[in-house]
Amino acid sequence: MKWVSTRGKSPAVPFIDALFAGTAPDGGLYFPDRFEPLPASTLASFRTADLVDIGTVVGTHLLGGDMSEPDMRAIVRDALDFSIPLVQVADRAWVLELFHGPTLAFKDVGARVQARLLHHFTDGTPLTILVATSGDTGSAVADAFHGVPDSRVFVLYPQGQVTDVQEAQMASLGGNITAVSVRGTFDDCQHLVKQAFADDEVRKRVWLTPANSINLGRLLPQVIYYFLLARLEGELTISVPSGNFGNLTAGLIAKRLGLPVRRFVAATNLNDVVPEYLRTGTYAPRPSLRTVANAMDVGAPSNFERIRAMYDDSIERIREDMVGAAFDDAAIVAEIARVHRERRYLLDPHGAIAWLGLQQQLEKHPRATGVFLATAHPAKFREVVEPAIGARVPLPAALSDAIARPRQSAHIDVDYPALVDLVIR
Ligand SMILES: *Cc1c(COP(=O)(O)O)cnc(C)c1O
Repeated sequence: MKWVSTRGKSPAVPFIDALFAGTAPDGGLYFPDRFEPLPASTLASFRTADLVDIGTVVGTHLLGGDMSEPDMRAIVRDALDFSIPLVQVADRAWVLELFHGPTLAFKDVGARVQARLLHHFTDGTPLTILVATSGDTGSAVADAFHGVPDSRVFVLYPQGQVTDVQEAQMASLGGNITAVSVRGTFDDCQHLVKQAFADDEVRKRVWLTPANSINLGRLLPQVIYYFLLARLEGELTISVPSGNFGNLTAGLIAKRLGLPVRRFVAATNLNDVVPEYLRTGTYAPRPSLRTVANAMDVGAPSNFERIRAMYDDSIERIREDMVGAAFDDAAIVAEIARVHRERRYLLDPHGAIAWLGLQQQLEKHPRATGVFLATAHPAKFREVVEPAIGARVPLPAALSDAIARPRQSAHIDVDYPALVDLVIR
């Protein structure tokens, strides 16, 4: 199997090269050159299979011979050691809860598998991962690599501008994880990281590896959990709360591999570039707006390039598989309150958007089997959820433990040599 660029102007590469690349040389994103559907008997076996079995089969299939089944099983078992429950919330409607990993957000799935894939393909050469974060991605990446042999992680975050919980999640791990508090903004952090990746002197000393969300190692593991939906009857309508559209891209790949999905709902907050495109045919990326579902505050979704490439840039074909839906903060908060009151189910703002998008489709298609993805634990967004429901949301043990642990961050100014000192030490 070969991996090609969405822009078609770079040579096809083997998986290992695509895995360690950021973008392709032509600026595009890597993608498989073809999708081989899974055999019907395999899909049928998923009705009763568990997450590790499904992950082993789907992962091995996606890598097309680049990894043995026992190796894939070891990675999946170690990475996905938490549950992903499928819970019924209404007649013909289910929620897939993706937020039971160590940082209580769905990014744990991609980041934890990615960390182990990178380690598998390095044969013991030490890796240095450098990421800038405004909060959530950094904590998922830091946690994912914590304790993975031969890897060191530096997470740069703007001092005083991440939440207490997020800082605790990054700065209390220790070991191979260094939290770096930068006296500057998120953009400063990103700029420092970019400088390092462009610095040949640094790259001679350490093997710098990107761990961002456009990377295949993050994207492909997300295909796995869609196959947990194989146990539901009927043709699926799946609503995905979307920001950079990695999650939804993974769903479209699952459909190509044979999951019986009738339609996806691209559910967003007011950053509705993709719903607008589906409605009007015009794709107009723009600066992001701040919303209560801030992990989805993305105005130029990076993975949308992969979606367009998968459909040969035909909006008619994209519309066959996808509808859009967008909701403002007031609708999100009201829905969190209503679902809590009427169904005793607690949504976080991102899950609320997906649920709102699903209901629109279930009204139009009452016989559909509906599923929405819940991407964050409601306790991670207490500032929004607690006023909405008028009650406290208890912190799960994973968060209260992190808050109680001692923290240690390196502190630097927006000063590139200071970062280099840390990284090559
Ligand atoms: C990152 C994130 C999203 C958006 O996922 P994409 O793959 O970028 O579309 C949704 N919800 C939460 C909680 C997230 O952290």
